[in-house]
Amino acid sequence: MVTTANAEETARLALARPDLLKQAALIDGDWVGGGGAIDVLNPASGRALGTVPNLSAAATRDAIAAAHAAFPDWRARSAHDRARTLRRWFDLTMENVDDLARLMTAEQGKPLAEARGEIAYAASFIEWFSEEARRATGEIIPGHAADMRLSVIKQPVGVVAAITPWNFPAAMIARKVAPALAVGCTVVIKPSELTPFSALALAALGQEAGLPSGVLNVVTGDAAPIGDVLTSDERVAKFTFTGSTAVGKKLAARCMATVKRVSLELGGNAPFIVFDDADLDAAADGALASKFRNTGQTCVCANRIFVHESLHDAFADRLAAAAGKLRVGDGLAGDTDQGPLINAKALEKVERHVADAVSGGGRVLTGGKRQPDAGTGGAFYAPTVIANVAVDALICREETFGPVAGLIQFHDESEVVRRANATRAGLASYFYTRDADRAVRVAEALEYGMVGLNTGLISTAVAPFGGCKESGLGREGAHYGTEEFLEPKTICARVES
Ligand code: NAP
Repeated sequence: MVTTANAEETARLALARPDLLKQAALIDGDWVGGGGAIDVLNPASGRALGTVPNLSAAATRDAIAAAHAAFPDWRARSAHDRARTLRRWFDLTMENVDDLARLMTAEQGKPLAEARGEIAYAASFIEWFSEEARRATGEIIPGHAADMRLSVIKQPVGVVAAITPWNFPAAMIARKVAPALAVGCTVVIKPSELTPFSALALAALGQEAGLPSGVLNVVTGDAAPIGDVLTSDERVAKFTFTGSTAVGKKLAARCMATVKRVSLELGGNAPFIVFDDADLDAAADGALASKFRNTGQTCVCANRIFVHESLHDAFADRLAAAAGKLRVGDGLAGDTDQGPLINAKALEKVERHVADAVSGGGRVLTGGKRQPDAGTGGAFYAPTVIANVAVDALICREETFGPVAGLIQFHDESEVVRRANATRAGLASYFYTRDADRAVRVAEALEYGMVGLNTGLISTAVAPFGGCKESGLGREGAHYGTEEFLEPKTICARVES
C-alpha cells in the first residue's frame, strides 16, 4: 500500500541538502520513476518517509543496457582518471556525512552516531579503492619453453549486478561498487526496498563526483522480478550479493545458467569465546560492542557467547549491567544507544528465540521483553542478556539478528572449539585469552573467514572481509576486493630468437 509521505517525518530529517532525498531510480544518468511506488518507512515510528519507484523487469534491463553501453569508455579511461573520480566521491560523501547519516537513521533505525560511523566506514572503501585503482597489476611468468613468453594481464569483468541488504544501507554498497568502478567495471545495484534512500543519495553524490551516465545505476522495487533479470541477463558478467544464506544460494544457482562470476556475503552465526584467562572487563566490553551494535542486526555479531564455567556468572553480571544501561529509542532523538528492530517480523523472531532459550533453562538477567515506552510505532526490544543457555537452543542454531546475548558455559578448549565450529556458517568468530599459545592454536582452529582476538570489532576497508562454508564466496576490502572484479588473461607469446 502506498501512503503519502508523512510531512512531519520528512521535516524531522532537517537535511542541509534536501535534494539528497531522491525518490526516483537512477538509470543512464537520469532519475526515473514509473511502475508504481513503494513506501519507505521510518522503523522508529512506522510512518512513511517517502516513496521509491517499483521498477519493472523491463526497466531493470534498461539499466543493464546503460551499464553495458557505458563499459567500453569507462574501462578505457586511465586508472588515474577513475581514481580521481572516486576520490571526489569520497570527499563529497564525507562533506555530506550528516545528511547521509540522518537519511540512514530515518530509514534504518540505527542511532545517529552509528549512522555517522557507517557513512565514514562506507567512505573508507571508496577512498581505499580509489587508491587501489592504480594497483591492478598483472604478472610476468618465466616461459615454459625457451621461445615462449608468458604474461598475465588483469581486465575488468564487465557489467556488475549487486544486491544489498538493509542492515548496512551504505557500507554494503560501497564495499562492492567502489572496487568494481575502480578497476573499470560498470554497475547496476538493487538496494533493499526497506532502505533505498541511502543508496540513492550515495549515487547522487557519485554523479556529482563525475561518474559518467550509465556507469552506476540504481534500480528500486520488488526484489524477485528485478533479481530474476540481474541473475539471468547475459550482459551481466558478475553478480555480487550480500544478504541471507537462503536467498544468496537461490540467486547464485540462477547465475550458473549464464556462468556469471559470483561473490556472496551471507549470514553468520558467530561464536564469541571467553576463556578462563581472559581480561573479563575487556571481554564484556567486546561482547557489548559486538552484540548490541545496530540492535544486534549485523552478520558478524556475536551469536553464541561461550563463557568458561569459572567466569560465567561474573561475566554475565558485567554484561547484563552494561546492556541494562543502553538507552533505547528513536535514533534521530539525541541520546540513543539502540534503535528499533527493522520491522515486526524481526521482533517476532527475537521473541521466539528468547522464549525458546528460557524454556530450555536460560535465566533472563536483563531485558527479555519489548520496550514500548521507547517510542510509538517502532519495534523496540530491550537489550537482553540470558545466562545458562542450552547449547541446542534456537539462539545457538540460527542468527537471532536482535539485541539478545545468550551465554553458554563450557569446560575446556577443545570442547568449545568443536562446538564453535559445529555450524554451517563460517563468517566471524571472536575469542578472548591472554595465553599466547592458546591465541595461535584457537585462531588457527576456528573455521571462520575472520577471527577477532581480544576484540569484538573486526571490520575495516584494509583487510579482507568474508566467510567460508555457507557464509559466502569471495572477499571484500583490501586488495582482495579488487580481484573479485578482475579477469586474469594469460598471454602466451612465441618469440623468434
Ligand atoms: P535478504 O532477505 O536475503 O535480503 C538481501 C537482499 O536480497 C535485499 O536487497 C532483498 O531485497 C533481496 N532479495 C530478497 N529476496 C530476493 C529474491 N527472491 N530475489 C532477488 N533479491 C532478493 O537478507 P536481509 O534480511 O535483508 O539481510 C540480513 C541477512 O544478510 C542476514 O542473514 C545477514 O547475516 C546477512 N548479511 C551478511 C553480510 C556479510 O557481509 N556476510 C552483511 C550484511 C548482512 P528486499 O529487501 O527489497 O526484499
